[in-house]
Amino acid sequence: MNRKAFLKKSALAAGGVYFLPQFLLSCKKESPFEDLKFNGTVGIVGAGAAGLYAAYLLRKSGIPVEVFEASDKIGGRIRTLEGFADFPIDLGAEEIHGERSLWYDAVREAAPEFITADLEDIYYFNGVKYTGNEFENSPEYAQISSIIDAIAEYNGSDISALAYANVQQLPENLIPFFNAWVGNENGTDISRIGMAGLAQAEREWTAGEENLMMRNRDTLSVLLELFAIAIPSVKLNTPITNINYEGGKVVLTDNEGNTFMKDRVIVTSSVKVLFDQLIEFVPSLPSLHLQAISNIGMGAGFKLILKFEEPFWPANTGSIYIPGPVPEFWATGDGGRSAANNVLTAFGHGSYAEALLQSPSTMIEAILDQLDDCFGGITASSRYVDHYLMNWTAQPYIRGTYSYPIPGTSNDARALLSEPVKDKIYFAGEACARNGHHGTVHGALESAFFAIQQLVQTP
Ligand SMILES: Cc1cc2nc3c(=O)[nH]c(=O)nc-3n(C[C@H](O)[C@H](O)[C@H](O)COP(=O)(O)OP(=O)(O)OC[C@H]3O[C@@H](n4cnc5c(N)ncnc54)[C@H](O)[C@@H]3O)c2cc1C
Repeated sequence: MNRKAFLKKSALAAGGVYFLPQFLLSCKKESPFEDLKFNGTVGIVGAGAAGLYAAYLLRKSGIPVEVFEASDKIGGRIRTLEGFADFPIDLGAEEIHGERSLWYDAVREAAPEFITADLEDIYYFNGVKYTGNEFENSPEYAQISSIIDAIAEYNGSDISALAYANVQQLPENLIPFFNAWVGNENGTDISRIGMAGLAQAEREWTAGEENLMMRNRDTLSVLLELFAIAIPSVKLNTPITNINYEGGKVVLTDNEGNTFMKDRVIVTSSVKVLFDQLIEFVPSLPSLHLQAISNIGMGAGFKLILKFEEPFWPANTGSIYIPGPVPEFWATGDGGRSAANNVLTAFGHGSYAEALLQSPSTMIEAILDQLDDCFGGITASSRYVDHYLMNWTAQPYIRGTYSYPIPGTSNDARALLSEPVKDKIYFAGEACARNGHHGTVHGALESAFFAIQQLVQTP
């Protein structure tokens, strides 16, 4: 089971109404906004999905815009590893979560081929390797599924998902699978994610149940193609460290003391960058915004790409679940992406990621041991050739993978964060997404749209 199955099992329980304004459906239209009341200049902090789409919308509307990007790359949490295998590998966003979203529609415009093969997962449970078909027909699988199904209706006290699993008396040996689907997929581990926010997100999700992966394109190439008109506006290697909105103009200052004057600013930095106060706001942000920032979780996470001499997993393998240091692996090249098909992705979050990332030198050994446990003997370790570690926590202006609800908070913090400050500072990015769409590309794009809509319609 992967996020697709998780979404299938638990999303839309409340039958969320699909609402996608018409302007989002076509990338070809000129300005999507009928009523432009603003005619000044805009600065955008960050050239990830939200920042690029915001710049694209402004350029289409004829509004001068400059995008300040701290790193030397466009794309933020969308990045590609080239040359490691016989196909480009997504180091960040990879799947299109749902068939009713702006991102889905935009990707369709780029006309990639999607993976259509029926991928089968592998489970290692109580020392035995099971095919997806075998495990998914077991009483254990039914037990986990039933407690995942019930998440959307959860209305008890705001405990962690781990506490919830314990209340539901999920046996210890099933916890790793529950963690893989509920914790890891949501950007952390089950001890850190809050049930109220998780349930709220499940109820509000409107993006549909399909989970799609492109067979012949990487995510970054599609993003750059779709929003190409925004690219000339991007200024790389320009970390913004101070935003002063005291006067008539907003003054942005970078790490070298260069200043840029704009009428309005959209900040798309990750919520962890905001929490860590890498940008000083003058005056300080309102307390509601500060509270919202501290009520949204974001922490450690990585993708580790492992290359082997040859595959030791069956063709058309999907995910591989083995209790141990990595909650989930998947066969990255399957479904027709790669002829050699000799690459696995290891995906870890939260305390699992922290433990492994503490010691990169022993990390690979521990992970190969985990794979050997499942596939027998030294099947994995004897075929290991190389790896590439994408440690998102170590990216200085990203600092993690994606946001999640922490116990004791609600996702309403996301709407509060996206309230404009004095009609000068606007926030966007995946952490501001509504409808439970945080942690996704479509959530980042939707948040940018709503920020620009507010900005251009305010005189
Ligand atoms: C490992 C991983 C797997 C994922 N898988 C999926 C998936 O399968 N499907 C999916 O839909 N989503 C997935 N996501 C989530 C998705 O990638 C993000 O939600 C989305 O890309 C976030 O876009 P953003 O614009 O909000 O933020 P970002 O991509 O973080 O962009 C913000 C940009 O701002 C820059 N910045 C920050 N602060 C400053 C500053 N002070 N000055 C200048 N620049 C600054 C940063 O360098 C960054 O480039 C995944 C993410 C990760 C990390």
